[in-house]
Formats: sequence, structure tokens, C-alpha cells
Amino acid sequence: MRRPELLDSMTVRAMATTTWTHEPAKSVETFDTLNPATGEVIATFGVCGEHEIQAALVRAHRAAAWWAGLPATDRRIRLLAWKSHITRYMARLAELVHTETGKPLADAQLEILLAIVHIDWAAKNAHKVLRSRKVRSGLVAINQAATLEYQPLGVVGVIGPWNYPVFTPIGSIAYALAAGNAVLFKPSEFTPAVGGWLASSFAEVVPEQPVLQLITGSGETGDILARSGVSKIAFTGSASTARKVMAACAQNLTPMVAECGGKDAFLVGSDADLDAAADAAAWGALSNAGQTCVGVERVYVVEDVYHTFLEKLSERVAGLRPGEDREADYGPMTMPGQIEVIETHIADALARGGRPIVGGMASIRRPFVGPVILADVPEESRAVTDETFGPTVTVTKVADLAEGVRLANGGHYGLGATVFTGNRKKAMAAARALRSGMTAVNSVIAYASVPALPFGGSGDSGFGRIHGADGLREFSRPKAITRQRMKPLVNLTSFARTDKDMKKILSLVTVLHGKRYKK
Ligand code: NDP
Repeated sequence: MRRPELLDSMTVRAMATTTWTHEPAKSVETFDTLNPATGEVIATFGVCGEHEIQAALVRAHRAAAWWAGLPATDRRIRLLAWKSHITRYMARLAELVHTETGKPLADAQLEILLAIVHIDWAAKNAHKVLRSRKVRSGLVAINQAATLEYQPLGVVGVIGPWNYPVFTPIGSIAYALAAGNAVLFKPSEFTPAVGGWLASSFAEVVPEQPVLQLITGSGETGDILARSGVSKIAFTGSASTARKVMAACAQNLTPMVAECGGKDAFLVGSDADLDAAADAAAWGALSNAGQTCVGVERVYVVEDVYHTFLEKLSERVAGLRPGEDREADYGPMTMPGQIEVIETHIADALARGGRPIVGGMASIRRPFVGPVILADVPEESRAVTDETFGPTVTVTKVADLAEGVRLANGGHYGLGATVFTGNRKKAMAAARALRSGMTAVNSVIAYASVPALPFGGSGDSGFGRIHGADGLREFSRPKAITRQRMKPLVNLTSFARTDKDMKKILSLVTVLHGKRYKK
């Protein structure tokens, strides 16, 4: 095998297209995936339409029946084999992620590493979380044995974004597979080669049935998938697209989990370790060129440490450099259209009186955007209210952590958040008060690396959860079973029921539940 740093675009193209065990859906129309730094074509993929998706769905239903019928231990072994395959070929996959998204190789490795941890957890915990269990039936139903179990849904459609083309879809795919479902995976049109690698690597360790199939194409293909009659859609992307996907899902009452964008806040208390906070804020805001759903976009700093923090943050950020070379701190903007959003947000912030502390309009050098720190940006400006998804951050002075929490909760997003303070009690209180699905204290984005924790948001950040036990249940159908184990003392569900029977049961309910509760 060639060493990753020696891989050229021809090899990357071959890796993306020639390792199929299960043929991707055939299609006449095609599209190219490009290296965002150079514009070079990486690979060509077919555009899947109605016909291809329906054919894939038929195959997926068969595969789902086979997969769900395997003993749980067999699914676990196969998923762990996939994890081990990805780990062994991590260098190749990282190279492909680097080429297709432009992110530095180390960042590509980091997202793969996190994905591996999630596959491992989902494989090892699926049975424990979803298996059949007895639940108490209660006094009124004392003659019943009650059982709860979580069954697979069937075929899950996963629609993924391009910014973390491994970690993000795996958060749905691994948990859906571990819960016994087959998956039709539509990666973003900007990262189909990475999606292809994931599907073909799974097919190498599970060659029997197409349990994970690749569906390629643009948004229209995603729309067809959402209308196709799959059992559930796991969507990750922007809130505006989520609304369209939800409308498409409505046609068949297809349920959906929506993992959307954010405008994550980062709070710095007066007793915080300012060096650690500045380091974490710099990385949280700028890594992956700010193209992170849980990236830091707004920083609120308590006034007595505001200037020191701003100085420390500026020092760290000013030296960072985007580029396509191996030494660059982050890469180009993957999606050219995003640069206009960034430009508009900076211009709006400056027009409203915001001060550029590092960079500014001149930081935009397509396809790259240099680091930008903006201070004194009014809360109503777009750089504070809307997802920028670029290497920019606003830093705002607040009176105390409580004001920081209030401003952080002001927007329409509710995905992740960060709190830096040396006081554990204050930190936990702020973390709880923040209207976010996840909060990291004294580190940034740490919750994404804990597979047992659920990941997701509220408001425009979406609904439902991936990861952890909640993530496994998201791709399952709860099944309730009662089994009568002895005749009831009083048969209430019979026309033979008498007034005396009813009286008996009402007396019992009054004794059990009628007691007055004092405050
Ligand atoms: P988009 O919403 O543009 O696209 C997401 C996916 O949906 C892509 O595969 C896209 O296909 C597809 N799509 C587009 N239109 C439709 C449609 N009408 N019906 C069905 N599918 C459609 O998001 P981006 O790819 O630009 O990703 C960035 C966004 O994702 C940001 O807002 C980011 O915050 C969010 N995100 C959220 C995460 C989370 O876990 N909460 C994680 C990562 C990102 P195509 O690309 O081919 O057009």
C-alpha cells in the first residue's frame, strides 16, 4: 500500500470509485466531485433518480430483513470488523477526506477517530439498550407480564453534509445499523467519494447483503430519498434544507431526525483559566475553517477579564493561516457559496459599529478566508444571530455569567455551548441554564467524543438525537407486549363485567391514588 502522503489524485479517484462490492445505483446523468483548493476533478458519480432509489430500496428491504434476523452478537462482530477495517485504512480515508473537503490531514484523522469510537460504542451497546426487558405492570394490571423491546425500523435514509463527511453521517449510520436497520446513505454532492469509501468498506466486511448502500446526487436526489417510503430519514444539514426535507417526509408520514446548524456560544467567567479558554475558543471557532455545526461563533466574556481574554485570543488567532499545504492550520471553504455568507456577516457587523480585532473584509481570499475576530458587534447583527459557518467569531463583554447565559439563549438555535470558569458549581448551573443540547465545561466540543452522550439540538438546530442510548432508540420502534399470566380478579375488559366488579376496582384505585398530598 502507498503511504498516504504519496497518494495523488489518480489514486484518490481510484480509491473512491473502484472498490465497490455492491454496484452503486446505475444512472446516466453524472456529476464531478472537486478538490476545493485546486478545483481539480476527484471522481465522477451518477445522479440517482426515482428509479435508482426505488431499486435500492427493494434491495435494502431484503438486506434489512437479513440483517435484523442475525443474532445480535453477529451484528456486533460485523460492526466491530468494520470499525477495525476503518482503523487500519484510516490513512487512506483521511487522505480522501483531505482531498475532497480541503481540511488538514490531522483534522481528517481526528473526525475518523471520533467516528471509530462511535461505531465501537454502538456495536457494543446496542443489545444492552434495545433488548427485550420485563417492566413492572402495577397493581391494577398485576395479572399481566409486561415486556418492552426496541425493534428495528427497517430501512433508514441518511442524508449527510460535507463538513464532517465521516463523523457526521456515521453518527446516524452506525447507530441505525447497530439497531438492526439497513441504510441508504446520500452524502453531500461535495463529498460523495468519502461516502463511497464508507459504503464500500462496509460491503467488504459484510459482503452477504447490501446493508449499507450509497445513493449519490444533489439535493433533488435527497428529496426523492425523503419521499421514497424509507422508514425514517436521518438528516444532517442546514435548518432551511431540514424544512424542505420535513415537507417531503410529510408525504408518507416518514419520521425524521434533524441535526441542523448552530450559533454556539462560549462563555468565559472571571475565574476562568484564560489561556486555556483562549486556546479552546480559537480552535472551536477556526478549526475546519469554522465549518463546524458545533463550532464557536459567539464568545461572551465577563467584563473584568474581557481585555485580557481578547488579547490572548488575538495572539493565538493572528498567527493562524489557511492553505492547502500540509502546514496550513485550516483549509479552504469547501462550498464556494458559503464565502458570500461570511462576507455579508462581516460587512453587516462592521456597518453596525463592530470593530475588527483580527482580520476583516480583506481576510476573504477565495477559496480561503483568514481568521476574523470582531468585537462590539450588536446582538441584532447577522454575525450574532445567523450561522456564519466560517473562521470568524464575535467577542462580547458581559456583566456576569448570567448575562452571558441570557444572551447565549437569545437566538433561534440551540445546539452546543461552552462554559469556562474555575468554579464547578457556577459552571454546572450555567451549563444547565444554557438552551443547548450539549454543553462542554472547560474544554470545547468534548461531548462529541463521549459516545454514551446524546447529540442534537432544539429550535433551528433540529430535533431528535444521535449517539448514545438515545441515538440507538432513535432508530428503533418501541414494542410493548402484555401477556396475561393469570386470570384477573376483576375482568374489566368484558361485557360480563358487573357493577360490583366496577365498585371493587374503583375502591382499589381510590385507596391507591386518592390520598391527599400536602405541600
Ligand atoms: P445542506 O442543508 O445544504 O445539505 C445537507 C444535505 O441535504 C446534503 O446532502 C444535501 O445535498 C441535501 N439536500 C439539499 N437539498 C435537499 C432537499 N431538498 N431534500 C433532501 N436533501 C437535500 O447543508 P450542508 O451540506 O451545507 O451542511 C452544512 C450545514 O449542516 C450547516 O448548517 C451545519 O451547521 C449543519 N451540520 C449540522 C450538524 C449536526 O450534527 N447538527 C453536523 C454537521 C453539519 P447536496 O449537498 O448534494 O446539495
